[in-house]
Amino acid sequence: MKESLIFDLSREGRTGVSFGHMDIAPQPVTDLIPEPFLRKEEPALPEVPESEVVRHFIRLSNLNYHVDKDMYPLGSCTMKYNPKINDQVTDLAGFTSLHPLQPVETTQGALQLMYELSEMLGEIAGMDAVTLQPAAGAHGELTGILIIRKYHDAIGSKRTKLLVVDSAHGTNPASAALAGYDIVAVKSNAEGRTDIDDLKAKLDGDVAALMLTNPNTIGLFEKDILAIEKLVHDNGSLLYMDGANMNALMGITRPGDMGFDIVHYNLHKTFSAPHGGGGPGSGPLGVTGKLRDYLPRPVIEKTDKDGQPYYRLLTDRPMSIGRMMNFYGNFSVMVRAYTYIRMLGPEGIRRVSENAIINANYLLEKLTGSYNLPYPKPVMHEFCLSGDRQKKEHGVRTLDIAKRLLDYGFHAPTVYFPLIVSEALMIEPTETETRETLDRFAAAMLSIADEANQSPEKILEAPSLTPVKRLDEAQASRKLNIRCTDC
Ligand SMILES: *Cc1c(COP(=O)(O)O)cnc(C)c1O
Repeated sequence: MKESLIFDLSREGRTGVSFGHMDIAPQPVTDLIPEPFLRKEEPALPEVPESEVVRHFIRLSNLNYHVDKDMYPLGSCTMKYNPKINDQVTDLAGFTSLHPLQPVETTQGALQLMYELSEMLGEIAGMDAVTLQPAAGAHGELTGILIIRKYHDAIGSKRTKLLVVDSAHGTNPASAALAGYDIVAVKSNAEGRTDIDDLKAKLDGDVAALMLTNPNTIGLFEKDILAIEKLVHDNGSLLYMDGANMNALMGITRPGDMGFDIVHYNLHKTFSAPHGGGGPGSGPLGVTGKLRDYLPRPVIEKTDKDGQPYYRLLTDRPMSIGRMMNFYGNFSVMVRAYTYIRMLGPEGIRRVSENAIINANYLLEKLTGSYNLPYPKPVMHEFCLSGDRQKKEHGVRTLDIAKRLLDYGFHAPTVYFPLIVSEALMIEPTETETRETLDRFAAAMLSIADEANQSPEKILEAPSLTPVKRLDEAQASRKLNIRCTDC
């Protein structure tokens, strides 16, 4: 199916909107907008009736792939199904008609929700205090690293370096660099975990913190975490956990119990707010007691007024790193995460993680043999395969395999990440997929492995069943043109 541009559907004189009878007198536009700000020419807007606009966008939405359509196995992104009740609660008038400048006496419910969400997130990760301000995971990282800087400044220790493991998400070194640190990469060992000897060699008096992801991006639990924690803290450094993907830990174990000082969460991953397409997101940050005073302000405090709970916003926080966001963060994402956690309860939260781990291992078991597995099983919530055998024997690259999957009706996994795995295919099924869906996905992957043996050209030409064939992705970002229709 090919869909025309809305500009091609345009016919002169057709209109989508009619204002009918107006009960106010028309005014010349120059009375409302000063002359210099008026356009010189009419904008080139399409002239399309309402029916055609609706059909055009419905057809486009049908071409789109999304998590409400089918499995979306994008590793390190936790594309779980987002329960619709989250949206129903977020749409309640009491939430949608709030204004951030309202007096706090009139926003007690919203403040209570934020306070309780912070408490629940703190409990899930074993942290003493949580800020909801950051608008994304990377923003949470930056917030955490600014706190690390402030902490070292406050105790008079001059530190210039942050250690980041080489399997980490690209945002880790980016956030550290943005906060002004030199980044030193720590190697992974043959098992895919942090290389302790390399860590020891790089932990010197200049190291402010180690940033670690656990389970790491290959889906492996850092089982030497307690030894790592001791090394880092004995060195006077802090331990930061990238908790964007908390899907394997919840209700089972906690970063705080492993000795992490700071952790960020991605509400738009683990806690089921929709994501992809640029937001809005939410990347709260939790800290242990010794870092609490550095959190962004304002901080929500629960007090008591006439025997009733009463919530206040505290701005007088002299040690705080300051504000990280206008107002209080992306509130609608918080309502979704709050609803999700309250619907599940503690037992349900634990079952999420158990099922995420079972699903990942079930799928991995079906695919091992047909694809290389660079590091030993078992895994946690995701796993990383390598397409290096297909590349070497048949000239079929991971990119080709990902494109072929589109022909089978699935979104591709994350590819070429993490960087330490050649021809990486990183797959995260999440807990929300049924066994039948996992079987269908496995069947597609196995069928592609067979095609690589027998008819590799099918994969090299893929996708051939999609509305557009293979796109030049580099061109799309180098020559971005989202405006002009005929130039
Ligand atoms: C997604 C992710 C991030 C970044 O989160 P954003 O909200 O995209 O900024 C950081 N670390 C890991 C491991 C992630 O999966």
